[in-house]
Amino acid sequence: MSLVPFERQTNGQRVVFGAGAARSQLGAEIERLGSKRVLVVAGKASRQLAEELTAQLPVAGFVADVRMHVPVEAAGRAREQAVSAGADLLLSIGGGSTTGTAKAVALTSGLPILAVPTTYAGSEVTPVWGLTEAGRKTTGTDPRVLPRTVIYDPELTLGLPPELTVASGLNALAHCIDSQWAPQANPVDTALAREGARSLMAGLPLVHADGKDLAGRTQVLYGAYLAGLSFAGAGSGLHHKICHVLGGAYNLPHAQTHAVVLPHVLAYKGTADALTELLALYDAIGAPRALRDLGMPESALGEAARLVVEAASVPLAVADHLIRDAWSGRIPTAGPSG
Ligand code: NAD
Repeated sequence: MSLVPFERQTNGQRVVFGAGAARSQLGAEIERLGSKRVLVVAGKASRQLAEELTAQLPVAGFVADVRMHVPVEAAGRAREQAVSAGADLLLSIGGGSTTGTAKAVALTSGLPILAVPTTYAGSEVTPVWGLTEAGRKTTGTDPRVLPRTVIYDPELTLGLPPELTVASGLNALAHCIDSQWAPQANPVDTALAREGARSLMAGLPLVHADGKDLAGRTQVLYGAYLAGLSFAGAGSGLHHKICHVLGGAYNLPHAQTHAVVLPHVLAYKGTADALTELLALYDAIGAPRALRDLGMPESALGEAARLVVEAASVPLAVADHLIRDAWSGRIPTAGPSG
């Protein structure tokens, strides 16, 4: 086997993975980090779970104001709460928006994060933060926002609603696929991405059939972990650039936008075999297909194509074709011209 030379950063982080781990190991992991005053970050959907998990733990307060893409105003309030509570640890329990809120506090305070994810977004394994001000999302990389510890517990995902399960699982699959042509693509992250994709593609039909299937939930969460690692190590490519632009400009839901756009990018960049396999999965799990169903107006199509050209340096004809197909839900066919 011939290997091209490569460079890769390994991020230091402790991961505890297993069904029941949040209930059985959260206290010990907080102790391991030496914490006495935990500020819990949990949005509406995970508040009850967070209260249950932390009932016997040294909680100094709760941040409940969790919003998608972390508005700077919400970040500011959470930062003030951390100071007034005298917190020495941020415990995020929830999806990518919850992890993102904890990251916004860690960015300025340097407080460590213990992340307990309940979706497949993957933010918990990256040193990437995101903040939104006046409708503009800024992202950056800072080692302080990388959670020190992650507890992956598939039991916490048993109640994830079917539509979000599929969309978030495909968001993870997008990390695996997009990392293949990302700027720092390398053989180690490619191996992680392949195994992640295998696990996601095996698990998603199981959890689509039965959201309470713990074995299926375990496979999908494991796949999401590997997907996040490959994304953290290799970076992201064309797919993420397109989703970033569309999500920001038209306030589209994160995971669903990734799910809709992925086959169109794969049709442009990938092989016919990979596209056929992905489309079969989409049929099997009832994946979302059209940006118009997510609230993107038809009148925005021309502008969206121009924004994609600016962000991703693809030819206008390609961007225009891709965005129109993704908007209408047309099934893509392989090849740059679709
Ligand atoms: P999210 O956190 O906004 O959650 C989506 C919805 O699911 C919300 O309504 C939430 O309340 C609900 N939810 C979460 N967990 C649930 C559960 N177990 N049961 C029921 N409902 C639940 O969305 P997401 O897709 O997890 O994350 C998206 C955000 O994360 C975006 O802002 C994205 O930019 C960010 N992100 C950042 C990185 C990074 O590296 N910085 C990586 C991936 C995603």
